[in-house]
Amino acid sequence: MPYFRLSAIALCLISGIASADAIRQTKGDYYDAFRQLDVDLPTPNVYRTASGAPGSQYWQQRADYKISVTLDEANRRVSASETITYTNNAPEPLRYLWLQLDQNRFKKGSLEMGSETAMDAAGRSTWKNSGGDVLTYNTIARYQEHQDVDYGYTIEKVADSRGRDLPYTIVDTMMRVDLPRPLRSGQDVTFSVDWSFNVLNEPRIGSRGGYEHFPENDTYIYFLAQWFPRMAAYTDYAGWQHKAFIGRGEFTLEFGDYEVDITVPADHIVSASGELQNESAVLTAEQRRRLDRARSSDTPVFIVTPEEAAQNESNKSFETRTWRFKAENVRDFAWSSSRKFIWDAMIHRQDDDEMPEVLAMSFYPNEAEPIWSKYSTHAVAHTMEVYSRFSFAYPYPTSQSVNTWKSGGMEYPMITFNGYRPDPIAEEDRDKYVEDAPDRTYSRRVKYGLIGVIIHEVGHNYFPMIVNSDERQWTWMDEGLNSFLDYVAALEWEEEYPAYRPDVNVLDNIVDYMVSEDQVPVMTNSDSVLQLGPNAYSKPTAALTVLRETVMGRELFDFAFREYAQRWMFKRPTPSDFFRTLEDASGIDLDWFWRGWFYSTDHVDVSIEDVREYKISTTNPDIESELDRQEHADEVPETLAQIRNREEGRQTYLQRHPELADFYNENDRFTPSNKDRNDHTSLIDELEDWEYQALVRAVEEDDFIYFVDFENIGGLPTPLPLLITNADGSEELMMIPAEIWRRDYKAVTKLLIRDQAITSLELDPRHETADADFQNNFFPRRIEKSRIELYKSKSTTRDLMHDMLIKLRERKASDGETLRQVPLGNN
Ligand SMILES: [Zn+2]
Repeated sequence: MPYFRLSAIALCLISGIASADAIRQTKGDYYDAFRQLDVDLPTPNVYRTASGAPGSQYWQQRADYKISVTLDEANRRVSASETITYTNNAPEPLRYLWLQLDQNRFKKGSLEMGSETAMDAAGRSTWKNSGGDVLTYNTIARYQEHQDVDYGYTIEKVADSRGRDLPYTIVDTMMRVDLPRPLRSGQDVTFSVDWSFNVLNEPRIGSRGGYEHFPENDTYIYFLAQWFPRMAAYTDYAGWQHKAFIGRGEFTLEFGDYEVDITVPADHIVSASGELQNESAVLTAEQRRRLDRARSSDTPVFIVTPEEAAQNESNKSFETRTWRFKAENVRDFAWSSSRKFIWDAMIHRQDDDEMPEVLAMSFYPNEAEPIWSKYSTHAVAHTMEVYSRFSFAYPYPTSQSVNTWKSGGMEYPMITFNGYRPDPIAEEDRDKYVEDAPDRTYSRRVKYGLIGVIIHEVGHNYFPMIVNSDERQWTWMDEGLNSFLDYVAALEWEEEYPAYRPDVNVLDNIVDYMVSEDQVPVMTNSDSVLQLGPNAYSKPTAALTVLRETVMGRELFDFAFREYAQRWMFKRPTPSDFFRTLEDASGIDLDWFWRGWFYSTDHVDVSIEDVREYKISTTNPDIESELDRQEHADEVPETLAQIRNREEGRQTYLQRHPELADFYNENDRFTPSNKDRNDHTSLIDELEDWEYQALVRAVEEDDFIYFVDFENIGGLPTPLPLLITNADGSEELMMIPAEIWRRDYKAVTKLLIRDQAITSLELDPRHETADADFQNNFFPRRIEKSRIELYKSKSTTRDLMHDMLIKLRERKASDGETLRQVPLGNN
């Protein structure tokens, strides 16, 4: 999605770890972090099994569309009509159908606009550190745009297959269409909708589609998303999914086939979900030759070159052309159109009989060069290569990346809208640069932002475009799984890929969020989440990374994750289907993991509190008494007063009268007695044979015994990767499973028996658990080392007399330009 606008809501989370569950487990504060999760999951049924797979009577609806749409460039308006064939596969009849009218988000008086807070308007998730009320340029410009243009759908007609009006009721972003008679199970109904709307000025309004205007040469890029009345989902788990669209929880839809005719100015190039059906009608012979060449090329081939696109920009055709597209078994359809588009394509080959070749394509304006022709289409191909290994072969004939905005991204089947462009060097600044400076430069952030957003958005083809989870309810189910895989793909693009700026490690990156006050459980409705990015994207990424690399291991994780993807390919999973499948396929109990990472706000922070070293006692008083004496001497130093007396040369009374010495002056309290010796003999005699053998062997082997105290400060159960440094300097990494916390989630003591002494312990040396505080991971503790810069104080006092002496900057207008001047206003 393009941006995160956050809404604040009161959260009814009760503080403290044990309150995540209503039922207390003891009278004390005992908490079983490992108890069954089943009580919190929906009861399995014939549609969804306890194993996490679709059940024997699993069903889903189907919606097929025929759409014809015209882009009126002069008025930046689309008008269209669609014929929908809706098939009811639910066991029950339906008296009415619900459609989504997403454009109505932007209609005056919409639920979203009405409920927007000042903080939402400022694009903030918190007023913290804002220094008071905030009004941004964006907010005021958006307000002005809404005053000038009416957005939202005009529904012109809803009719049955014979053209007779069907009654309908619009409820904010939803529309109910009443059927003349109930649609019975197994039957389908065909009806049509005619509509039009003003295309959104995307940079002003902020949305997932619209137009971008380039004032330099008065050109446009149009990208139409969530643009047609789409069937709302009807499911076994939620009935109609018709919760209003209020900006965040994107959507879930039904699968079906699409035939879409798109009429645009004749000099436009169109990118759309699916495959172009009428190449010869819309492409030149040369373009078709190039496209054919791309179909067997492993590197991108231009179908429209940068020079040709620049040439097209100066055209303004008033003729139109109709591009026909077909998309099969998709849950949505989006398209983009512009005379600015450069177009390149290459073939992506995969090991799959059904779809051995996929055409990877990119569409972008000259403003996006030179990085788009270099990276975009390659990033599309790389995504399919990595994601398919974790799920299934890419099932569609095309995969496209379109540059529609400066930064951000949004996903639709076979087509993705992606941001990031280089920064141009302004013509008037040219003389400040070296002679052969290029026209545009780009930062590290723009380069990796571009590759990253393309991987992410193309990755959404898998989740949720094919594994059809419900983002209106659960953002993490697609964003989280997709972000996890885009992280995997980024690391496979190049080493040290700055996936989580500035560092590569998602686990170090997530810590700030997991210790923050704003954290809400990942299992929170999309529109109620605070800090959507960390909550629904990076925290699930961190969780699945811990699961794959540390808890389950790659082999078990990859098998189980692929099983989930394949079970739910072209179907609708819910969170429990994911949780259950990963356990079912891996044989690993993960209830504690799901509860800790997805249902709670705990974080990972384990401290090594104490370590105690022992040797096995022989119990023989003649040996042990001398050791006791030494131990005592080590622990309790001689009394200072006694030392000072000696230093002063003070003689004790006894030293002056040695004849007073007796038995007790020759034997201290450690001296073994015959009674002690007899007790020892009886103890040895009373031992069972195996006990005696064990003692003898232990004394012979003379191992080092350690009791290591761990304290779980963050509360989240975690495996403990423990680096042990031995007396001989060798190191050893021991992995203690998370189950160590199963009977005490707060504090545990681990027993270690070692054949040589341990000199130090370090927890999580590879940063693989998302531990929030590494200071307490060392035993003994370490001194933290860094450098400190000397602080120089700066004076900021205003010197009016001095500041008045500064020369006034001269402003000159070039030809035809008027100098900017803010009016004086009314007050
Ligand atoms: Zn996303």
